[in-house]
Amino acid sequence: MKYRKMGSLDWKVSALGFGCMRLPTRRLNRLRADTAESIRIIRHGIDLGINYVDTAWLYHLGDSERLLGQALQDGYRERVHLVTKLPTYLVRKTEDFDRYLSAQLDRLQTDHLDVYLLHSLNQNQFDKVRNLGLVEKMVDAKEKGLIRHIGFSFHDTLPVFKDIIDYYDWDVAQIQYNYMDTGLQAGTEGLAYADSKGIAVVIMEPLKGGRLANPPAEALDIMKGAGNERSPVDWALQFLWNRPDVSVVLSGMGSQQMVDENCASADRSGVGSLSDEEKAIVSRLAEVYRSRELVPCTACSYCMPCPHGVNIPQNFAILNNVSMEDGRIGRWRVRRGYRALAGSKKKLDVENPNGNAAMCIQCGECLDKCPQEIDIPAELEKVHAILG
Ligand code: SF4
Ligand code: SF4
Repeated sequence: MKYRKMGSLDWKVSALGFGCMRLPTRRLNRLRADTAESIRIIRHGIDLGINYVDTAWLYHLGDSERLLGQALQDGYRERVHLVTKLPTYLVRKTEDFDRYLSAQLDRLQTDHLDVYLLHSLNQNQFDKVRNLGLVEKMVDAKEKGLIRHIGFSFHDTLPVFKDIIDYYDWDVAQIQYNYMDTGLQAGTEGLAYADSKGIAVVIMEPLKGGRLANPPAEALDIMKGAGNERSPVDWALQFLWNRPDVSVVLSGMGSQQMVDENCASADRSGVGSLSDEEKAIVSRLAEVYRSRELVPCTACSYCMPCPHGVNIPQNFAILNNVSMEDGRIGRWRVRRGYRALAGSKKKLDVENPNGNAAMCIQCGECLDKCPQEIDIPAELEKVHAILG
């Protein structure tokens, strides 16, 4: 494992962080985490040198914090920087801060967090943070020793990002960034801005919800032409580690194979390790992806569960995958995935949402939950028009 600087903190942080949002799931309920397998692969990652683990209140409907607390027993807690997030979007009054933090410390079976983030700030949530004095509550919790460092995760535009950066002397900013999203949200400019203030920048969605791990044929041909054996995932991760202003790259790993492969990539990583030719290849890959993507869904599942059983990320993934396929057979194969989803109430699986886009009744309940600001009901209509 390679270790990197963490903004102004005196830590050496592992290049790869364990994101606990896409853990192995239960066979009969894909939203819930498989406890035993999740604990096993988290510990395996720590044994390979990962020392930064990131979770949040809502990941896997609360399973993530609970099972991470179990995974960090038997001496593992002391080996990591533990990070979770205040569910800012659920906070209604100032006192809610203490209630959530206390419940999160219980779930995680710890007496302190190494970093506590305000989750998923955008303009609205930032207004709420200011109005309710939540940063002051963070500072108070820090003085009590319940949290060591303060930060936020972010999904909005660059000007909003800069406003938030300038508002407080943060330790950590967590942003969505990958070779497709250099101009989106905080983007490259925001990343550099945070770094210039000594703030550690943590990267989420390095593979854009897994999309960069499954390239279309045109992108694969570009990779093959590079004359090395890099996998699609390795290209995406090395692009990030090549930058001096990136501290840790979070990967939501759902199997031991992913942990092993990503740790091997991290072993090979380093600032400035990509040649100019390789950087040019990454730019070409980004162009190919951008030209194919129809819905910018990262499969984060923040919009789930849909009360009407629609599997929102799966519908968008199928549409994007059809667009990424070149051949008729490939497209036919992907479209079969849409036909396998439920198109009627009778076929809906309540525990394991499997509804297709036509099951959306346009209730709008998911609308404010999407950090990518996707107009989910409108896009689902398009999905069904194309795939139905
Ligand atoms: S708008 Fe559609 S997808 Fe969104 S919560 Fe309502 S039914 Fe579900
Ligand atoms: S639609 Fe938005 S909230 Fe839902 S999974 Fe995709 S990116 Fe996440």
